[in-house]
Amino acid sequence: MKTRSRGKLPSPEAIRRCLAEEDPAALAPLFAEADALRMRHVGDAVWLRGLVELSNHCRRRCAYCGIAVGASRVPRYRLDRDGFLDCARRAHGLGYGTLVVQAGEDPGLDVEGLAEWIRSVKTNWGLAITLSLGERDLDELALWRAAGADRYFLRMETADAALYDHLHPDGSSWADRLALLVEARRMGYEIGSGIMVGLPGQDLDDLHHAVELFAELQLDMIGVGPYIPHPDSSLQRRIEDFPPASEPARATELQTLTVLALARMARPTANLPSTTALARVAPGTGRSGALGAGANVIMPNLTPAPYRRAYDIYPGKGSTEATDIETHRQLLASLAALGRFPGQGRGDSLSFLRNQATLEAQKEAQA
Ligand code: SAH
Repeated sequence: MKTRSRGKLPSPEAIRRCLAEEDPAALAPLFAEADALRMRHVGDAVWLRGLVELSNHCRRRCAYCGIAVGASRVPRYRLDRDGFLDCARRAHGLGYGTLVVQAGEDPGLDVEGLAEWIRSVKTNWGLAITLSLGERDLDELALWRAAGADRYFLRMETADAALYDHLHPDGSSWADRLALLVEARRMGYEIGSGIMVGLPGQDLDDLHHAVELFAELQLDMIGVGPYIPHPDSSLQRRIEDFPPASEPARATELQTLTVLALARMARPTANLPSTTALARVAPGTGRSGALGAGANVIMPNLTPAPYRRAYDIYPGKGSTEATDIETHRQLLASLAALGRFPGQGRGDSLSFLRNQATLEAQKEAQA
């Protein structure tokens, strides 16, 4: 019988109780356990990854998103080579070991061009590169991998395939999205996924299923953030199509931290960001709460100021006017206050490195 990976997840009944719990005091032991696992498996370093939002053009109709194809209000942009490489130069200057490149699913993306830009980043600054560009063709993924991209991040968004399909009226399918991640791993990418918490129509079963999938997929990176309603999204216009479940998932700080803590248990060695969406719904406490409930990554935004506001996936996303340096200083101070410090280097997934080492050893043994 195939054993299914469960990491260090509690029993299904215990998971269920945690997800139903609304009293922060009752969840404190869960957060403490996730924090201890984090410390034991990945240490106190917090990996800082520079985020560049490459383009807000998108061909998808994701019902929750403010830059979906139908959203006419947002001005569209696409960074050019200089704009992109400048972000990488700044990431390196601030001591970040990874550049995270995110975009809408942009049909006008210069695929060959991006491969060349990736090679330049590697040659000039040696940064690790995470791509988060949506569902792209396999030959594109292979091209970028060959150019030096290291990781691919694609959220499953929800663990409920029917809800996923309902939220994606453009024909994007949940199964295809997961299959793409598996292909990316086969190409040698580290892979990451995650969900939004508190989507309309989402229930506690969905959250439960998601954390089990994080373990089964053996993810190297897991991103969990609350759903934030966007007034211009099609979801808000047809909200009556998503009646509340009998045990609805809640888009709260507490529910998000609960899923994050369970994600750490599902994958003790994975890299887990404290997400911007969580900091947005809980400005004073979200970041430190996440770092105390299993998270070990923060992704400061390096997108040039004129474009930040236009990468408007949810309201308030790009509203900070602070410079890179100001943000960086504040970040260092807040990490120090928590007894944490920035990681030095790329911050690769430990399970990924271990698998690589095993594969190398097997090759050597066969040779
Ligand atoms: N096009 C890429 C990147 C999408 S944006 C892709 O498809 O992977 C990155 C993530 O933002 C999404 O995967 C989604 O989980 C999150 N997101 C989008 N709209 C949101 C909203 N209204 N509230 C919270 N998170 C949102």
